[in-house]
Amino acid sequence: MLTDKFNRTHTYLRISITDKCNLRCTYCNPIDLPKGYFSVSNKMSPDEIEQIATTFVKNGITKIRLTGGEPLVRKDAKEIILRLAKLNVELAITTNGVYVNEFIEVFKQANIKTVNVSLDTLKQQKNLLITGRNEFDKVHENINLLLQNDFTVKVNVVVMKNTNDNEILDFVEWTKNQPVHVRFIEFMPFSGNNWSNDKVFNYKEILQLIKTKYKYENLQQDKSDTAMKFKAVNHKGTFAIISTMSKPFCGGCNRLRLTTDGKMKNCLFSKTEVDILTALRNKENIEPLIQQCVWDKEEIQGGQFNSINGINDALAIKNRSMIFIGG
Ligand code: SAM
Repeated sequence: MLTDKFNRTHTYLRISITDKCNLRCTYCNPIDLPKGYFSVSNKMSPDEIEQIATTFVKNGITKIRLTGGEPLVRKDAKEIILRLAKLNVELAITTNGVYVNEFIEVFKQANIKTVNVSLDTLKQQKNLLITGRNEFDKVHENINLLLQNDFTVKVNVVVMKNTNDNEILDFVEWTKNQPVHVRFIEFMPFSGNNWSNDKVFNYKEILQLIKTKYKYENLQQDKSDTAMKFKAVNHKGTFAIISTMSKPFCGGCNRLRLTTDGKMKNCLFSKTEVDILTALRNKENIEPLIQQCVWDKEEIQGGQFNSINGINDALAIKNRSMIFIGG
């Protein structure tokens, strides 16, 4: 069991398999990302990912999510997915959706049931502005393809004031006839992503806005859920809010992270990382390193801030960019 000093048991591992991405989302990529930047040279091989994941599973991990960068741009993504599918875990993936059509059969083979797709706007032109690439139609088609193939689809929407907060009601409307699960995520600060307090449209504001048009019910919440879940009355799909900034949910946190270069993070906002990959390559036992990293986890948000009012300068946060951590 991977338990920390606050008695939280960790059963969920998010593995970033690449820090490369085919999109350039403003909120995720650092503004100073060099043109043609290179992915980390010492990324974990499929075999190393499997070995490390196996050790985590031996220590109580029951769910693994693949993320990135964009996991589906990695050339050996299929091999990694199928290797991890052999472990006794629930396997999930977060993707920008662009290459999903090439992976539908692999997802089925790997027994992946739920696919999280990021889409921050329902408008093509705005999507181009946010992502820097013209892939809106492809993503939309691939969401429909996933639904036709009976996958559960969660759509991640990073809500930014004066950018897409005026589309919240349109996203909820989408859930009326389609069984999509929209998740509104509060905009979070990372190195170089131009974050400021006044760009956060927080969960209270989101709910207040939704209330003006829809009657909704609260859905049941698990202790480790990051999302508060709701369903508009008579809608096929649901919506949820991930309130990382204004109402952190660290008390029930069960998540750990592994970066592309094999560094373990015990929190998205942790200042420190533990080099699991080098230890593995040196033939050291990685189990005590993993256990110690969990034990050292801070109580709230990596010990970096406690509430939205507690942080005024996002640049003061010591962390990698989201694209280099793995969202
Ligand atoms: N490329 C994949 C994708 O687009 O979903 C996986 C990686 S992405 C980093 C994972 C998730 O992190 C996405 O849903 C994205 O919206 C979210 N994310 C990235 N930067 C964020 C930020 N600054 N605030 C909130 N969520 C963010």
